Amino acid sequence: IPETEIIKHLFSKGIAVKITQTLDVYTVKMVVEELGIETETQEVKAAATKSEMLDVADLENLQFRPPVVTIMGHVDHGKTTLLDSIRKTKVAQGEAGGITQHIGAYHVDVEHNGKMQQVVFLDTPGHEAFTAMRARGTKVTDIAILVVAADDGVQPQTKEAIGHARAAEVPLIVAINKIDKPSAEPDRIKQELTEQGLVSEEWGGDTIMVPVSAIKGENLDTLLDMILLVAELEELSANPDRAAKGTVIEANLDKTRGPVATLLVQNGTLRGGDCLVAGASFGKIRAMIDDRGNRVDTASPSFAVEVLGMNDVPSAGDEFEVFPTEKEARAVAESRASINRESRLQQAMSRRVSLSTISAQAREGELKELNLIVKADVQGSVEAILSSLEQLPQNEVQIRVLLSAPGEVTETDVDLAAASGAVIVGFNTNLALGASSAADREGVDIREYDIIYQLLDDIRAAMEGLLEPEEVEEPLGTVEVRAVFPVGKGSVAGCYVLSGKVVRNRRFRVLRNGEVIYSGVLDSLRRVKEDVREVNAGYECGIGIAKFNAWQEGDIIEAYQMVMKRRTLSPV
Ligand code: GDP
Repeated sequence: IPETEIIKHLFSKGIAVKITQTLDVYTVKMVVEELGIETETQEVKAAATKSEMLDVADLENLQFRPPVVTIMGHVDHGKTTLLDSIRKTKVAQGEAGGITQHIGAYHVDVEHNGKMQQVVFLDTPGHEAFTAMRARGTKVTDIAILVVAADDGVQPQTKEAIGHARAAEVPLIVAINKIDKPSAEPDRIKQELTEQGLVSEEWGGDTIMVPVSAIKGENLDTLLDMILLVAELEELSANPDRAAKGTVIEANLDKTRGPVATLLVQNGTLRGGDCLVAGASFGKIRAMIDDRGNRVDTASPSFAVEVLGMNDVPSAGDEFEVFPTEKEARAVAESRASINRESRLQQAMSRRVSLSTISAQAREGELKELNLIVKADVQGSVEAILSSLEQLPQNEVQIRVLLSAPGEVTETDVDLAAASGAVIVGFNTNLALGASSAADREGVDIREYDIIYQLLDDIRAAMEGLLEPEEVEEPLGTVEVRAVFPVGKGSVAGCYVLSGKVVRNRRFRVLRNGEVIYSGVLDSLRRVKEDVREVNAGYECGIGIAKFNAWQEGDIIEAYQMVMKRRTLSPV
């Protein structure tokens, strides 16, 4: 294809390039595929950035670990106040003068069932951190607290938070905040949450909802108690007797102290002097400081500590792991750094979520769910789309709507989509500033429609792609047995092909008086004296089967083969 053709093509997409310019893989793929050429990208060995926190060996020695909690909710509903208030009432109690410092997480001690237990809060409120981490496949949160102001109600970010928690399959506890306000209407909030699929326990549902006042510190004990209750049900556990593993929750470069990283230990125990790798950085722990500003020697599962001694600043969401020697840690970190450099782009590509990649994934049997985010011009359209989606048969592939709301497609939607492998469906709506470039960067498929049935057709098609192909029988032909010849100890059927054809090594069954008396694979097929592969209608042939000799004149042989067929969705 002439260069000018490619330049013209790019220009029509608003990308102006010079003939000498190098294009990135993503653009190359896009252009080339549109010109009808298939592309193959060399697969990059993904750096091991994602792994299970628990190994099989840990199962021998699992012990309860405190829950790690994230607070989410709409702006101004009181997330920060709640975090501060819990910290103040709980931390100050024990620690005389306890200087608390912000390291990205803190723990409180709570008496539960007569025992002192701990709850760890990630203190970056909002879901940015939560999503950013999830987008990288990291899971640090065990329980999410959704703060809803009792004088306000369910707002866009409330819905978003619900979407995030659902997508991450993290249990959610609702804190109905600001109940001290005269204008508070907790029952109305519960009603509104019902519409989001969260039904409070008092109303027969299974969502724990606790009325609180963050400012007055009211009912915080109940909230903490509920957190521990949920933690018990979740059976959170880790093996403290092993080398530590976990996630970086914050990191920065301190002018005097060098790289500083807050590590959340998710398994094992972290110790001073340990050699570790976090993302592509490594180091030997020079000092550890806990959330109360104390220097500590160890950090056990679910606790966060600030660590000094890394060679570089890792990113929030990076996993960390302790290695036996500094040499090993350095080697792992260096290989990761070089893989990172090479594959940043390709990794972004491979994460690309589109209806077609989802289809392919599912065809390989990996996916049975289609995650969607639905944005539309008005609430009415949202509802129309949701109810039409519900009518698509979902007995095999489930549609999960993580978020549905009127409004533009925003960057946050893209983040959520990237984090949960979802496709964004926009109906009669626009892309907010930044959404489109974020989608390119994160590799998220945003599909825009202005006709509902087209939208439904596409989704349906994707779901059909999601279905595993089915093995079905395809008839090949029918054959009549006209004579039986004894051959050695067995016999051969002299046949006439009535219709279609008969093919060696394909399946067949023998019918006598309409009943199947044998079925198997046709292992010998002859015409005159020659072995042949197939014989067509109107010809005679000899058929011999090693395991079957009881031929009779008049038997009918049905020849068929098994083929894989892409199924269409069967109606429910
Ligand atoms: P965030 O944006 O969710 O972190 O909300 P903030 O914690 O900053 O709170 C927003 C506003 O609500 C602040 O002015 C708080 O003082 C106020 N606020 C938070 N919790 C309560 C509460 O329980 N009662 C009352 N009356 N006001 C609250």
